Amino acid sequence: MRQQRMLIPTLRDVPGDAEVASHKLMLRAGLIRQLSSGIYSYLPLGLKALQHIQTIVREEMDAAGAQEMLMPALHPSELWKASGRWDVYGPELMRLEDRHGREFALGATHEEVITTIVKDEIQSYKKLPVTLYQIQTKYRDERRPRFGLLRGREFLMKDAYSFDRSQSGLDESYESMYNAYDRIFTRCGLNFRAVEADSGAIGGTDTHEFMALADIGEDTIVHCPSCHYAANLEKAVGQLPAASASSKQSDLNAKPQKVHTPQVSSIKQLSEFLQISPEQIIKSIAIEVNGTPVIVLLRGDCEINEIKLKNVLGGSEFTMLSEAGIHKLGSVAGFIGPLGLPNIKIIADTSIIGMQNAVIGANEADYHLTHVHVERDLVDLTYDDLRNVTEGEHCLTCGHELSFAKGIEVGHVFKLGTKYSRSLGASFSDENGAAEPIIMGCYGIGVSRVLAAIIEQNYDERGIIWPDSVTPFDVHLLTVHVQDEIQLKLSTEIYKTLTAAGYSVLWDDREERPGVKFNDADLLGFPLRITVGKKAVEHIVECKERRSGDQYELTTEQIAAHCQ
Ligand code: ATP
Ligand code: MG
Ligand code: MG
Ligand code: MG
Repeated sequence: MRQQRMLIPTLRDVPGDAEVASHKLMLRAGLIRQLSSGIYSYLPLGLKALQHIQTIVREEMDAAGAQEMLMPALHPSELWKASGRWDVYGPELMRLEDRHGREFALGATHEEVITTIVKDEIQSYKKLPVTLYQIQTKYRDERRPRFGLLRGREFLMKDAYSFDRSQSGLDESYESMYNAYDRIFTRCGLNFRAVEADSGAIGGTDTHEFMALADIGEDTIVHCPSCHYAANLEKAVGQLPAASASSKQSDLNAKPQKVHTPQVSSIKQLSEFLQISPEQIIKSIAIEVNGTPVIVLLRGDCEINEIKLKNVLGGSEFTMLSEAGIHKLGSVAGFIGPLGLPNIKIIADTSIIGMQNAVIGANEADYHLTHVHVERDLVDLTYDDLRNVTEGEHCLTCGHELSFAKGIEVGHVFKLGTKYSRSLGASFSDENGAAEPIIMGCYGIGVSRVLAAIIEQNYDERGIIWPDSVTPFDVHLLTVHVQDEIQLKLSTEIYKTLTAAGYSVLWDDREERPGVKFNDADLLGFPLRITVGKKAVEHIVECKERRSGDQYELTTEQIAAHCQ
């Protein structure tokens, strides 16, 4: 492919709203463009990488015996009402009406649709087990779409569903998917870990998440360095009683302590978890005041949400006294800010002075401190204190001190049981003609999230460093001076040799300055760069491996021999 003719709009500068490396690099390397919050187009290079991931997923799913199909994105509300999820799923489910006023949802997941198909088409034990999958666009109105493809509102998911007649059958289907996931993420070049997860409200027993390790990951992994224990934080917190026990003590001299907390959606949940009253919790939220990000501390007993608070701050009742000042308005307890400055003091509002044994934290799992004495501690604590990883818990299996890491959830396998088959009436008849509900499992991979996670783990200051398995092109062939007949001729020859041998080659045949071309080549990050320059007269080219940085010269004869 000639670069001259390809749409690869590279950017020199980092777009302002991109926070994490993968998002910045995908924009800079011209892989994606944003259409709206959490909604992206894949440009030619981005699509190529995405397709390579899809191929890996397909090959491994097919090898595991799963069958590919494709279901609609538009679901009639009746289905979601029948499963009970129309009400339970909440605002993340995108809803719309057709011209006749009938309600629909844009599929956030496909248990309802697939179970309906299986209900209609499979009646006998003879047709079981079966595992079906699709690679398809999903819609979720995420509260906080961010980090580019990592948390989109429209994203590509591979979702598979297994149907079995017995629990042991489900165990086998689950294991087979679990092993396929291991192979998929390994082939994608990800550094990942499978962790026990919390089955939460859906019920069911076994569930594992596949976490790509990355500091910017939104999930916390708790793992034991000396045995096989690994769980996500929510699960681990349930298994370790230490957190709630420590917060119950009322030792007024106790120093602030970090504490494990789950991701919660309300102060009430957090207070229940910590077994303290809501007013002992001071929560912080990030907002903008006159364009400056600040962290506002709120009394836990207040129910102010972000929107209302913005209105309050925009109104006349709230005045900022100074850059690092404090303010009170009912439940606003003060603020830390502006964000990004190190060690900004948290300043206590007079209305909460005197509070002892408070819990202070950010609206995130694992960022809470107990035993905070407001008068004594708040001016000395920094936001960094909250962000330090919680330490000091011990493994229940072997007693070794547990380690913590951040992860990106790239896959999730789940033993559903009969929740959907019962509510939607999917049953099979056994050898004796008795009807039994089909036993289900569901298995998701965030295909577009995997793409971002791969970049998040593979880059340097100059750009992306693609793993061989997903790189958009194998080789970047770079002609230094396209006007030079000899360079052009040699480049054409090498291009033909490589493509005939099955390598995908992007040929930089643009009339750009060499510096621009080299920078773009590093930014795009294909595994091998072959530069045709001055030594073309001697049939010598320069090779550079993107990952190792190794450079060496090759003759065209050597390239041809390699391609034989
Ligand atoms: P998260 O905890 O990150 O919100 P989830 O648990 O809600 O994810 P699942 O319902 O388990 O997601 O969906 C299966 C997979 O789809 C996830 O493991 C993840 O890889 C991917 N995924 C989920 N939400 C998104 C999103 N908003 N953008 C991109 N990928 C997503
Ligand atoms: Mg989610
Ligand atoms: Mg999750
Ligand atoms: Mg999940």
